[in-house]
Amino acid sequence: MHNGNVWVFAEQEGGRLEECSLELLGRGRELADRLGVRLESVLLGSDVEALPASLIAHGADTVHMADHAQLAEYRTLPYARVIADLVRTHQPQILLFGATPTGRDLAPRLASALGVGLTADCTDLVIGSHDEKGQRYEDLLLQIRPAFGGNIIATIVNPQTRPQMATVREGVMPMGAPNHGRKGAVERVMVHLTPEDLVVEVLQKEPRSRTVNLKGANVIVAGGIGVGSAVGFATLQELAHLLGGEVGASRAAVDAGFVDRMHQVGQTGTTVRPKLYIACGISGSIQHRAGMDGSGRIVAINSDPNAPIFEIAHYAIVGNLHDVVPKIIKAYRSRS
Ligand code: FAD
Repeated sequence: MHNGNVWVFAEQEGGRLEECSLELLGRGRELADRLGVRLESVLLGSDVEALPASLIAHGADTVHMADHAQLAEYRTLPYARVIADLVRTHQPQILLFGATPTGRDLAPRLASALGVGLTADCTDLVIGSHDEKGQRYEDLLLQIRPAFGGNIIATIVNPQTRPQMATVREGVMPMGAPNHGRKGAVERVMVHLTPEDLVVEVLQKEPRSRTVNLKGANVIVAGGIGVGSAVGFATLQELAHLLGGEVGASRAAVDAGFVDRMHQVGQTGTTVRPKLYIACGISGSIQHRAGMDGSGRIVAINSDPNAPIFEIAHYAIVGNLHDVVPKIIKAYRSRS
């Protein structure tokens, strides 16, 4: 029996919280309620006093806030030091991170420092029991994720060690609406860093702006290898622009160099749930579907009537996308 709380790492950059942290708080709230414990969030940065309110509105009961000039930029060692010290003091039973570049760097470092396991890239988290060697473990975190190239869904447990640690893919857990009336506590964390924690200095930053916002798009026009070329993608871009949406892509189209990797949808790309997803020349592999089958309406355009994408499409158009897409553009233009 472990009565530790559920913790969510609140990732921020430049005073802006990452959406996936807020998504995780929603699931963290459900897990904490199921276990009858508190949901707590750990926030690191410099000048971040404004952020706990948002974390509390999204479900945190307590925010452990380490506000220190040395934490202004994310660096593995000082961040891991502060969180490891906090975990040793407070002993949460669950510790969750978004599977962002920062989460993927920080969580393994912490798991190693704490001597505990870590499941990366989970797509679901629930509380359940587990039987092993004649022993029953209750109230474990069941960490669910695709494995073996998406061919099986694995459930991973840590019966012995605490905290149970997982990173969770961005976008797979819907973000709950904030409740600005919620009350919560903010606990300031004393930051003790050694010179060894600060051996890495950030001398210069060259941020690459995110020009594609797949997660926030209401409409996505996605292309697969069937689009045939970068020029073909320009037509998809035209349709996406007309519909006020973004261009998505299968991994095969990205690997072929038709479009940048930041457009990739799927198991190793972005998970999206737009209102409308138009899949053009995409077969509908399990890895692609994993990233888009939560879309509100799916339109599939494919020349193969047996393409697996049609199994999940609400509207199926069997045909050559090079004929169909220009016709949609023309029809849309003529009516608007
Ligand atoms: P194909 O499967 O080759 O399908 C092309 C389709 O286009 C066919 O259905 C064909 O009928 C149709 N077509 C061809 N010409 C036309 C035309 N003129 N008009 C209309 N239709 C046409 N894939 C992803 O997408 N995202 C991921 O995140 C991802 N992660 C992966 C992770 C792992 C570990 C592995 C092993 C694979 C992953 N993949 C991922 C790859 C995935 O398995 C598929 O290979 C990929 O999704 C196929 O892309 P596609 O549908 O564009 O190509």
